[in-house]
Amino acid sequence: MPQIDGRSSSQDLADLFGSYEGQLAIGGIPLTNLAEQFGTPLYVYDAERIRGAYRHLRDTVFGFAGIYYSIKANPNPAIARVLVEEGAGLEIASAAEYAAARAAGADPERILFAGPGKRPDELAYVIERGIGEIHLESHEEIARVASIGQGLGVEVKAALRINPSATAQGGAMRMGGKPSPFGFDEEELESVIDVVSGQPSLRLAGIHLFAGTQILDAGVLAGQWEHGLRLAVRAAKHLGRPLETIDLGGGLGIPYFQGETALDLERLGERVQDLQALVHDEPLIRDATILIEPGRFLVGPSGLYAAQVLASKISRGTRFLVMDGGMHHHLAASGNLGQVIKRDYPVVAAVPGGREASPCSVVGPLCTPLDTLARQAKLPDLRAGELVAILQSGAYGLTASPIGFLSHPTPAEVLVDRGRISLIRARGTFEATVAAPDIGG
Ligand SMILES: *Cc1c(COP(=O)(O)O)cnc(C)c1O
Repeated sequence: MPQIDGRSSSQDLADLFGSYEGQLAIGGIPLTNLAEQFGTPLYVYDAERIRGAYRHLRDTVFGFAGIYYSIKANPNPAIARVLVEEGAGLEIASAAEYAAARAAGADPERILFAGPGKRPDELAYVIERGIGEIHLESHEEIARVASIGQGLGVEVKAALRINPSATAQGGAMRMGGKPSPFGFDEEELESVIDVVSGQPSLRLAGIHLFAGTQILDAGVLAGQWEHGLRLAVRAAKHLGRPLETIDLGGGLGIPYFQGETALDLERLGERVQDLQALVHDEPLIRDATILIEPGRFLVGPSGLYAAQVLASKISRGTRFLVMDGGMHHHLAASGNLGQVIKRDYPVVAAVPGGREASPCSVVGPLCTPLDTLARQAKLPDLRAGELVAILQSGAYGLTASPIGFLSHPTPAEVLVDRGRISLIRARGTFEATVAAPDIGG
């Protein structure tokens, strides 16, 4: 179980990718070769590590829940395809993500649409093309989906997204019990069920609960799932019939920072057995399809972001490595994607070269002190042209970043699969980045 607690932790995480003659390698290919071929900055993903995470989790929840990949964690269709081929469904939050899910080969029946603000044209787009389930999150949305279904003469399979109440939360839980724009408050469950039941074009199939992200404690996660199951029983009782689906949400964490330990899947598996017993004892949910919808857990560890040193300088005693990549490609690593405390992602040199490491600050090319990728990285005395890799970067990387800021071209994305290399997103061009306006003159 990877643990982030000391000097060598970044190197331990790098070792999970493997090495080649002392260099960081992905699927057997040295990172330096990929950088030469595709240029920097660059995102690289290892398909085998995505499969590994999926299979480990699938075995942990086997017989209890199915897995839907939350595509916003990394919406590249080639990444989603790896998971679809493993048997995962997909959870989407926009019409464009629906298109990405179909491009990845997902069966429409295995796609769920959640999200607090779905436009009417997006709803019509997915209902016309086929969708497994739409998660209803507001009264306006109930009315919109019902009217689109009626207009098309189809019955839409729907679930209610529920924002869990404070009383049901453990101390460590986040996002629940507070005011939330996501879904309906648990307190309104029965009245909202009545509203949906009054719409002939809607079939209320289940409920959906998602109470928090980046959870590393198996007990907290299982507690959340248990609450979801109890809520499902309550919903079924009011509905007067068994539920078809119960979506227990995502939120499975991965270790990024000092002091963090990977989610203990063995312990989670033990708790899952208790939950299975609970389900078995409740006729109203016994035959429901239960699912979880992780994003980060499945793809985060599989990816790294590589950038090249442009300059190495010392300012008043602090060493700065100025890179050709930064927060415009990787906002989360800079600590500006919702983190309260800015801590360093694991960072390593692609070629450590047996050199002694010392603390330094790794910064990007943007003209703002926010563009800091690591504050206390332990790296050797790297020179211009050498490569640095930020690990745990396969989720909430490129598409969760302000890629337009300072108009740098978008980086390439490369998928390595057991030695096979695929360019899955071409590098952007200056021309495309600055959509040349005709300013006359
Ligand atoms: C973002 C999201 C997820 C995935 O969250 P992770 O923390 O990456 O597992 C799952 N479900 C919904 C509805 C989401 O919005």
